[in-house]
Amino acid sequence: MTVREGSLEAPTRHPLDWLNPAFYDEKECFDEMERIFDICHSCRRCVSLCGSFPTLFNLIDDGQTGELDGVDRKRYWDVVDQCYLCDVCYMTKCPYVPPHPWNLDFPHTMLRAKAIQFKKGTPTTFRDVTLSNTSANGKLATIPVVVQAVNAIAKIKPARALGEKLLGVHKDAWLPEYTSAVFEKHAKRSSDHPVQNGARSLGKVAIYSTCYVNWNEPGIGHDLIKVLEHNEIPYILVEKQACCGMPKLELGDLDSVAALAKKTLPQLAALARQGYAIVTPIPSCTLMFKQELPLMFPNDADAQAVKAAMFDPFEYFQLRHKDALLKTDFKQGLGNVSYHVACHLRVQNVGQKTRETLEMVPNTAVNTVERCSGHAGTWGVKKEFHETALKIGGPVFRQMAEHPQAAEGGGLPDFIASDCQLAGHHIEQGMAGKGAGKVAHPLSLLARAYGL
Ligand code: SF4
Ligand code: SF4
Repeated sequence: MTVREGSLEAPTRHPLDWLNPAFYDEKECFDEMERIFDICHSCRRCVSLCGSFPTLFNLIDDGQTGELDGVDRKRYWDVVDQCYLCDVCYMTKCPYVPPHPWNLDFPHTMLRAKAIQFKKGTPTTFRDVTLSNTSANGKLATIPVVVQAVNAIAKIKPARALGEKLLGVHKDAWLPEYTSAVFEKHAKRSSDHPVQNGARSLGKVAIYSTCYVNWNEPGIGHDLIKVLEHNEIPYILVEKQACCGMPKLELGDLDSVAALAKKTLPQLAALARQGYAIVTPIPSCTLMFKQELPLMFPNDADAQAVKAAMFDPFEYFQLRHKDALLKTDFKQGLGNVSYHVACHLRVQNVGQKTRETLEMVPNTAVNTVERCSGHAGTWGVKKEFHETALKIGGPVFRQMAEHPQAAEGGGLPDFIASDCQLAGHHIEQGMAGKGAGKVAHPLSLLARAYGL
């Protein structure tokens, strides 16, 4: 039988078979990696996406045979460690994903290997688990007095050097500040607007604010609220929300993902069934509810209900716009904006809704950069990966700094924006001073355009 070169159909995804004991069978997992790596070796399309593929191809090329059989299987872990589960190879590059008969799922095979690795434990388990406890870290670090101490220590160079030695957090990596003005405690209550459902968009919103907006940058959440208020869309906050589980997924800690899902899914599903659009201002968290949890719990009605009600904010605004229910009474232009499309938004397959929205604002020129910044959640702050994270982001840093409309072509933009605010700060760091003070989340830019 001949096998077609590449799939013509849209990618589909098989559920993650994580409850099957065979999922944790190391030999089976390595056999599957071998099968996939051999296909990748003859394809090599993904060489520029991240560190996993160059690591694999270098291992093969430097081996005795120049083929995969010349690579010690133990070195497969090197490939696994370089994957931060951005999903871009699966969703945008690979022609051999299902429904193609080769049935290749590189990211979920890496996830399976990470899950096996997590169960076995590694020398960095303590650091990795600590970094992934985003909600617990937020609660602790935002206690008044503690918050000042945490933020101050993060800026002291000797303390950062010690942190690198003891905790494995790179001393130069950008780290978010914490705030005691936690979003969920200070968010303004919605006005009593009537609910106006459109043909494509629900007329009321539940904000899943995310750990990052709640504990680190509440301003993004307040700007989202301003935009909703301006558009007379009533909203509520998802109360006492638990973490979406993405940081745990990236570690392969699937039991913790499941424990968090037990808290989030019933709560969010109840809101979905009450007719709320659930809007989540960090793409990784949105993706968790749109894709990863439904694949982990394919028969769970709550997971599927949440998936159907979950929206990226700009995806939601563009649906409102199509329904003629989004105001376009912009008060000020944004000038030259360099906008980075975050990987976890790209793979949601909703198109470039943030760019489309920002381009609706008069006197605004958007320079769109669609490539991995290298930050990748907590991966890019780890001692062993930070330098690679900056290297991967190099082309993005250059393109963000060269706005075609600025300074007669190729000048610095007025703003640098990414749907993922952590990527935005990582880009600012990579621009080596050129982006200083220019980071603004797209929601903050939209609020500014409305004059709010
Ligand atoms: S999921 Fe992302 S990081 Fe992992 S191999 Fe694919 S492109 Fe690389
Ligand atoms: S993941 Fe797919 S597209 Fe990428 S190198 Fe492997 S076979 Fe090629």
